[in-house]
Amino acid sequence: MSDAELVLRSTRVITPEGARAATVTVSAGTITAVLPYDAEVPAGARLEDVGDHVLLPGLVDTHVHVNDPGRTEWEGFWTATRAAAAGGITTLIDMPLNSLPPTTTVGHLRIKQDVARDKAHIDVGFWGGALPDNVKDLRPLHEAGVFGFKAFLSPSGVDEFPHLGQEQLARSLAEVAGFDGLLIVHAEDPHHLAAAPQRGGRKYADFLASRPRDAEDTAIANLLAQARRLNARVHVLHLSSADALPLIRAARAEGVRVTVETCPHYLTLTAEEVPDGASEFKCCPPIREAANQDLLWEALADGTIDCVVTDHSPSTADLKTDDFATAWGGISGLQLSLSAVWTAARERGHGLEDVVRWMSARTAGLVGLGASKGAIAPGHDADFAVLAPDETFTVDPAGLQHRNRVTAYAGRTLHGVVKSTWLRGERIVADGAFTAPKGRLLARPQ
Ligand SMILES: [Zn+2]
Repeated sequence: MSDAELVLRSTRVITPEGARAATVTVSAGTITAVLPYDAEVPAGARLEDVGDHVLLPGLVDTHVHVNDPGRTEWEGFWTATRAAAAGGITTLIDMPLNSLPPTTTVGHLRIKQDVARDKAHIDVGFWGGALPDNVKDLRPLHEAGVFGFKAFLSPSGVDEFPHLGQEQLARSLAEVAGFDGLLIVHAEDPHHLAAAPQRGGRKYADFLASRPRDAEDTAIANLLAQARRLNARVHVLHLSSADALPLIRAARAEGVRVTVETCPHYLTLTAEEVPDGASEFKCCPPIREAANQDLLWEALADGTIDCVVTDHSPSTADLKTDDFATAWGGISGLQLSLSAVWTAARERGHGLEDVVRWMSARTAGLVGLGASKGAIAPGHDADFAVLAPDETFTVDPAGLQHRNRVTAYAGRTLHGVVKSTWLRGERIVADGAFTAPKGRLLARPQ
C-alpha cells in the first residue's frame, strides 16, 4: 500500500462486513486496503477525510432508460449520467428500449456505445432486447458483452419493441438458457390487462384498476413455470404486486433461478396519495396501496426481493398529460433514489448497510460485476458516494440534472444529502460541480 495515491477516511465506512470507522487506500483507481481508522497515511498519498459523513460504495443501478440516440429529447447519456452521479450512482445499465435503434442487434449495440462513449459521467453497460423476431441475435449480443436480455410480456409502450407471447418467450428463454444468460422480464399478462376496466381519464383509482395485481401475478407464475422447465435464469423487473411474493418464495424454495427487483417509487409513494391528473406518478406496473407497500418492505427485509433500482424512464413534459390512460408511463428518479429509499428505510428501522446491499452489492451481483463494483473492499473499483445521512433537503425540480425536470418527488423532504461521488478514485461531482465525463463503457465479464 505504499503506492497508494489517495486515502479516504470516515468514521462510518459501509463495508461488506458492516459499518465501521476506517481508512481506505486507493491506487490506480482501485481500492487496495481497508485499514483501521487511525492507520498512518502512506507517504505521498493525498488524504480526503470526510469526517462523520458516510462513505458508501457507489450505487449500481441496473434499470435505467437513457433513450439515446433517437429520443434524446426524452433523456440522453450526458444528462442521465450527470443525474446519476449527483445521486451517488457510479454504474448504470441501460435498458434496450426507447432509444432508436433499440439494442436488439450487435450493430445497434455499437451505435449506442458510440453515442454513449464521450458523454458518460459514470460507467455504463447495456442490456440487450429479446423481440419476437431476433432470437438469432441473442447469442451474438451476449458475446458482444450485453449483461442479459429484456423481454416484455405485454405491450411495451413503443411500437419498435413488441412483446413476446408465451411461445415466443419459451423460444427466447431456451436460447438464452443455452448460454446461461439472464432474461429480465416486464411481467404483466396482456389478457388480464385487456380484461381490466379501461376507463381512462384523470382519476388515479381508475388507472390503478386498469393494471390489476393479478396481471402481474399471472405473468410471474407463467414466467416461473418456464424458468423451472428450462432451468433458466430469470429476473422479475419492477415488482409492484405483493400478491406475487408467495409464488416467488415457493419457486425459490424449489430451486428456480429467479431474482427480483422493486423500485423506489413502489417503496416510498402510495396510490392513496397520488393526486388525480398527476401523471408524473404514472408507471407500469402502477404504484399501489400502502398495505401492498408494507408487504414489499417485508420482502426486502427477508430477501425475497433482492434489489432496488430506479426504472428511471422519462419523457418530454408534454407527454405527461393529465389523462392516465394516454400519458407516458415512467418515473424519473435517478438523482433521488438513494435519498428516497434511505428516507423510508430509516423510518422502518433499516440501516444504510441494508440500502447499500439492495442498491449496490446485489445489483452488481445481478449483472456479474460483483468482483469490481458494489463493495468497499480490496480489488474493487474505487467508486464511492459520500453521504450526509441525517441532513435533509426538499426536492426542487430545478435542481435536478435529468433532461426533463418532471418528478413525482417534487416538494418532498428527504433524508440523505450526497456530498460527493467518486469514480475510480476521482471525484466526479462535489456540491453540484461536475468534472468532464470519466465514465467507461462496461461489458459483461466473460
Ligand atoms: Zn423500465
